[in-house]
Amino acid sequence: MAELKLVNLTKEYDKGVIAVKDFNLHIEDKEFIVFVGPSGCGKSTTLRMIAGLEEITDGDFEIDGQRMNDVAPKNRDIAMVFQNYALYPHMTVYENMAFSLKLRKVKKKEIDEKVQEAAKILGLEDYLSRKPKALSGGQRQRVALGRAIVRDAKIFLMDEPLSNLDAKLRVQMRAEIQKLHRRLQTTTIYVTHDQTEAMTMATRLVVMKDGFIQQVGTPKEVYDFP
Ligand code: ADP
Ligand code: ADP
Repeated sequence: MAELKLVNLTKEYDKGVIAVKDFNLHIEDKEFIVFVGPSGCGKSTTLRMIAGLEEITDGDFEIDGQRMNDVAPKNRDIAMVFQNYALYPHMTVYENMAFSLKLRKVKKKEIDEKVQEAAKILGLEDYLSRKPKALSGGQRQRVALGRAIVRDAKIFLMDEPLSNLDAKLRVQMRAEIQKLHRRLQTTTIYVTHDQTEAMTMATRLVVMKDGFIQQVGTPKEVYDFP
């Protein structure tokens, strides 16, 4: 279970660039929250502060009531999926998925179980020995999702995970990510500039503009469709 509380979260980069200003949001357990808005509105910065990849300038961030501001990224129990997949090119699919567990000294047998299970969920069973360069874009993104799944993290953060895919694959992967969420029920924050993606995937939407939250609500509330 994972509930997030963001209180007046603020990020000022050097030279007075304020990327995010007084961001306030409660995220309930099991939600699939989508941050949507034009390029440069602060979506990625907010996500990176939650992941611990970017220092928080001001405000507080809690997971299940525990203040996380000063907790090291590796201790945040968060798994992140990036737009460019960030796979290790010299490792096989299996090794890519196993790597973070190896670092955490998880036993080989348990690693194997988790990787095999993730591969099954994602339809990657026949690709475990391949290197990323021998995979399609969709398969690469599945490996990136697999790396997040094996961690059993409390929270998934996804930063434009489908932006590098062609339109048809994007629609397909959208459905796959939704299915994954129904199955695992992991609290997820998903960042996109694509309104269709936001509308079809979100339990709730956070519409951002110039570092501020413009609107929060269900897709129905935000886009006012019947
Ligand atoms: P989005 O994800 O919505 O495209 P970002 O969070 O990447 O927006 O960026 C928000 C603002 O912060 C933009 O004005 C961007 O130029 C600025 N910004 C992002 N990263 C840095 C950085 N490392 N240094 C300075 N400014 C940055
Ligand atoms: P190490 O480098 O420590 O030997 P590996 O990741 O190479 O670890 O392999 C550890 C175990 O993972 C293997 O014994 C095997 O059970 C499993 N494994 C590795 N690659 C694959 C694969 N392509 N398909 C299925 N299982 C694999």
